[in-house]
Amino acid sequence: EPARELLGVGRLTTGYGAAPVLHGVDLQVREGEMIALLGANGAGKSTLMRSLCGLHRPLQQGGIHLDGQDLALLRAEQIVARGLVLVPEGRQVFPELSVLDNLRLGAFTRPAGREVRVERMLQRFPRLRERLHQRAGLLSGGEQQMLAIGRALMAEPRVLLLDEPSLGLAPQIIGELFAALDALRAESMTLLLVDQMAPLALALADRAYVLEDGRIVASGSAAEIAGDPALAQAYLGGH
Ligand code: ATP
Repeated sequence: EPARELLGVGRLTTGYGAAPVLHGVDLQVREGEMIALLGANGAGKSTLMRSLCGLHRPLQQGGIHLDGQDLALLRAEQIVARGLVLVPEGRQVFPELSVLDNLRLGAFTRPAGREVRVERMLQRFPRLRERLHQRAGLLSGGEQQMLAIGRALMAEPRVLLLDEPSLGLAPQIIGELFAALDALRAESMTLLLVDQMAPLALALADRAYVLEDGRIVASGSAAEIAGDPALAQAYLGGH
């Protein structure tokens, strides 16, 4: 029996002025799935991710549902509390705060059991334990990305959204990052991943969507999308 839909985007149109950036986007994420969202620079991936978690409003048309509940009128922190949590582009850890305090802040919607979860994050990302009391701004890019993911996991997401986590990281660190994402996938975490590393993202994902100029131009199993040479232009077009 197919897993049920957790996150649904229906005919979503939105943008920054009169001209929409997203045009009638449809997308579904089922429980336990890992979805890759691919597209060239400017296709609208970040706008979609920010719309999902209430950071970009208003939605001009269409809707977003999490487990059947309409998210359109909820504030960003209410959306986090319901389990849709974003790891934003550029990581955006709090540079002046310690690694520990960054992790603790991730639990602001779920304070119960916070310290137990901090310990679990340090087991998941041992490098963070070595840096626990350092300012987050002093970490390497890869360590900051691990911290950003750890901070998001502290909110106990039902769906984790990742916007370009590999951006600006060295190849070896990108390998570690994707290993961490693979571990989450193996734990049946539901994931929606935007990344320019299309082959790596498709190697992990169950299904993929390709966004071009604000429209979904293809969707299917990750293997189907990876094997379609005509699509490479759409998702690698910016490079
Ligand atoms: P990238 O990979 O470069 O981040 P993207 O696929 O995430 O690209 P978006 O960042 O969503 O794309 O941008 C989509 C379009 O919306 C682009 O044309 C961009 O110039 C425009 N845009 C993004 N943010 C704003 C903003 N704050 N104000 C006006 N236009 C914006």
